Amino acid sequence: MLPLEDLRAKLLAQRRELFRQAAQTEEDLLWLETDVEPEAMERGRTETMVRLLDRLDEREKLEIEAIDLALTRIETGSYGRCQGCGNDIPVARLQALPSATTCLACGVAREALKK
Ligand SMILES: [Zn+2]
Repeated sequence: MLPLEDLRAKLLAQRRELFRQAAQTEEDLLWLETDVEPEAMERGRTETMVRLLDRLDEREKLEIEAIDLALTRIETGSYGRCQGCGNDIPVARLQALPSATTCLACGVAREALKK
């Protein structure tokens, strides 16, 4: 069994950290203090979130997307399965990179394809 609660907490912390870099006003910081649950994200993005996303660069936006996707996969029960080969992603890899969607071998293969 995967330590899902632990991984979920890590994902939410990473997500908050990314948004924190973009936060500039007190209002933004207050928004960060309130836990944004995946269910709430499903219902649509708040104005503050859209504004913060706007200040992030492409790489950071991709990271947020990967984190959101991982949180959704936890909800739907498909988390931890490699999207490349369908095998379980090793727990150690998920703990190091909770938003990983592939095992290491498939991840390396995908990176190689991008180049
Ligand atoms: Zn794989």
